[in-house]
Amino acid sequence: MTAPLLSARGLSKSYRSRAAGLVRALDGVSLDVAPGETLGIVGESGSGKTTLGRLIARLEEPDAGTIAFDGEDWLALSGHALRRRRRDLQMVFQDPKGSLNPRLTVGAQVREPLRVQALVAPREIPARVRELLEQVGLEGDTAARFPAQLSGGQRQRVAIARALASAPKLLVCDEPLSALDVSVAAQIVNLLLELREKTGVALIVISHDLAAVSRLADRVAVVFAGRVVEEGPAAEVLSAPRHPFTAALLDARPAPPGVASRTPPRQAAVDAASPGEGCPFVPRCPIARPRCRQEDPPLSEVSPGRRAACFFPAEVRPRSG
Ligand code: ADP
Ligand code: MG
Repeated sequence: MTAPLLSARGLSKSYRSRAAGLVRALDGVSLDVAPGETLGIVGESGSGKTTLGRLIARLEEPDAGTIAFDGEDWLALSGHALRRRRRDLQMVFQDPKGSLNPRLTVGAQVREPLRVQALVAPREIPARVRELLEQVGLEGDTAARFPAQLSGGQRQRVAIARALASAPKLLVCDEPLSALDVSVAAQIVNLLLELREKTGVALIVISHDLAAVSRLADRVAVVFAGRVVEEGPAAEVLSAPRHPFTAALLDARPAPPGVASRTPPRQAAVDAASPGEGCPFVPRCPIARPRCRQEDPPLSEVSPGRRAACFFPAEVRPRSG
């Protein structure tokens, strides 16, 4: 196996908030991304996915853990060295309205990383901007327009073009589809597939859209309450889950048009385990046994290339129907 491009170990992050006290957003998350690979990260709202993306992109610092990126201690970089290396790891956010500058033309925003990082000669910049816009399916004259003059899908294409300007090795996309209509989201999925093919960029795609993740991702990590509870090849994890939370996510997925919506899984009548004891999923687990209330299952191999944090992975029932 090739050396991973990104290798995170034991990432933890807590926030202190007046309303909720100390919130453990991430609790010892480890993951690897190979060069050119797409890792999907799925999980319900509030499970720590954005925190994970922000730590990897170094928009925030973890309380604990390590990140190796492209052979370097990523967390040790600072100042000029970090600014230089940021070109290799870019981020695309959920809401392109928030991530684009409303006062700058599209061209100015795509030009900026080229200029700041001195990636191409000044006189080649306009041609490179056009090329980047074309690469994301936008007409060259989009460069003269402002974000407010574009549709949501076009804006997300601009955000992707800007992220690709520095020819990154890894692109972290946090819910890149969730501000978009279904048909536009499908086009952005196609675009990401195409760009990955053309540029060889590795992707981390954080999304609650399981259908999109199954199209995009080679591997998937399922996050529950700040931890990875299941991990493996996307096609296998999403068709035959080995953790009951993954099965519940698949069950809760909206039915395709014309198919009767499934009733949500019945929650087991189990009291919440006291903190620090047992499996954190016990209160919602349909297959919990006494052991699950006493011991916290570690993420461990359940079959070659697949890991799950469950004592009874063989009893997890995949989505029926
Ligand atoms: P997700 O992206 O999976 O919805 P987040 O990473 O945004 O989850 O959040 C994980 C948890 O951390 C949530 O409980 C959230 O409220 C909390 N959290 C995230 N960012 C902050 C912050 N800056 N201050 C306080 N709490 C935060
Ligand atoms: Mg989020």
